[in-house]
Amino acid sequence: MVKDLYPCIIGGEKVFSSDGRSFKDINPANTGDVLAEFPMLAREDVARAITAAREAQAKWASTPVPERGRILVRAAQIMENELEELTRILTREEGKTLTESRTEVSRAVSIFRFYGVMGYRLRGEFTVSAEPNTHLFTMREPLGVISIITPWNFPIAIPSWKMAPALICGNTVVFKPASYTPLIGYKIVEALHAAGLPPGVVNFVTGSGASLGAEMIGSREVDAISFTGSLEVGEEIKRMAGTRNLRIQLELGGKNPAVVLDDADLGRAVEMVVRGAFGLTGQACTATSRAIVLDSVADEFTGKLVERVKRIKVGNGLAEGVEMGPVVGEKEMNKILDYIRVGVEEGAKLILGGGRLSGPEHSTGYFVEPTIFTDVTPDMRIAQEEIFGPVLAIMRATSFDEAIELANKIEYGLSASLFTRSLPRAFEFINRVQAGVVKINKPTTGLEPHVPFGGYKKSSYGMIREQGEAALDFYTKIKTVYLGY
Ligand code: NAD
Repeated sequence: MVKDLYPCIIGGEKVFSSDGRSFKDINPANTGDVLAEFPMLAREDVARAITAAREAQAKWASTPVPERGRILVRAAQIMENELEELTRILTREEGKTLTESRTEVSRAVSIFRFYGVMGYRLRGEFTVSAEPNTHLFTMREPLGVISIITPWNFPIAIPSWKMAPALICGNTVVFKPASYTPLIGYKIVEALHAAGLPPGVVNFVTGSGASLGAEMIGSREVDAISFTGSLEVGEEIKRMAGTRNLRIQLELGGKNPAVVLDDADLGRAVEMVVRGAFGLTGQACTATSRAIVLDSVADEFTGKLVERVKRIKVGNGLAEGVEMGPVVGEKEMNKILDYIRVGVEEGAKLILGGGRLSGPEHSTGYFVEPTIFTDVTPDMRIAQEEIFGPVLAIMRATSFDEAIELANKIEYGLSASLFTRSLPRAFEFINRVQAGVVKINKPTTGLEPHVPFGGYKKSSYGMIREQGEAALDFYTKIKTVYLGY
């Protein structure tokens, strides 16, 4: 057996692939550092996981909500006790800096606490009836078995913000993490079981997205799918689900603008755009990928931005003082470098970065320079498509109206920022920008767990938001009761 081969968990049992196949979990900052191996399960194994979830569901649904909540709160406490260990795992596995990892792990802790307590508010509505001697009320019921499929870029926060509301509502889960980041996903499931979660309530499966996904979406035993990932895979899931009566939530890509007006605090705008564009190595669905700047301040803004970005220390996230880690994998790195080539070919001006970093500190991993383009026009691919890396496109606008038009001229609509000192302009932006999250004088990235999150246009599919109280609507169905007496 391979050293550090972790199991999948089905019905509370440790499971390995029947043909012994596994895949490696590698540190993208140092590809010689193998964290673990995980089983390459087959589609039939996932069918067993779905059956286990189905068998556990009725009992879990009849467990009093406060008891379900206590388990979530205990899991939060276990993860908080392991904060530093989980932080290091996340940095080694995904590449983000220790500060970024600590923030993400803490967020997962808050999410489990929030939904643990939210159990007490899992309420319906009591209303008057038009008929005499009748009580009229609604109640929430769980959906059943939920397939949860998640990406690598927030590999502890995203599974947490799907699993915690699913569980508090009385559903059971089959959870497949991204293959770059299975270990941190395993740690959540481990914490839940240590907190007292009964076997079969959460089942953890690893392997190829296409093969496992086919069962997690195609099985008649699954009642809902919550997926976060790329637009391409999201479209494929929509196609596979077809016309079945399946509840689907797809949280997809972004191409998020930060609009900088002539009355903005430019120092602040620069800091926030740097955080949004280069924080998390630009690998956030809410990352700032376009800065739309009014002509009159564009030169000054760009000059300050370049000076600041030149100071970003890129390196292994485990090292002191590093502000930006590697890209998660070779394929992703090559995609980013391809986009940089496309930008140059399209006529955008590459004013900073543009290449892979080499040298002793960087040759062990997938490091891309923080990259800035100017002279970007809306028709260019680098202005339209999600790059998902540390690449910022600066576009100019002659007026506030034109800036809003540029901000909206994309297929996505996830997050958008405005930098201004004018309250009326802030409100006008809030009203007119087509995005599910709007930030004023703040970076496009960064979300709080207790409010809804989701996008407009192609960024989200399925009308019900994730996070906050809104998530309860996705994971429950409503029964209306007429009680005559
Ligand atoms: P991805 O779509 O490649 O993979 C996401 C998950 O889907 C992985 O677990 C993968 O194994 C699985 N998968 C792959 N093929 C599948 C298939 N055919 N059927 C079912 N599952 C399949 O995305 P990624 O590269 O892991 O993540 C990056 C993407 O995620 C970016 O586009 C980013 O914008 C998006 N994202 C969106 C949000 C949001 O909330 N909107 C948050 C984070 C990331």
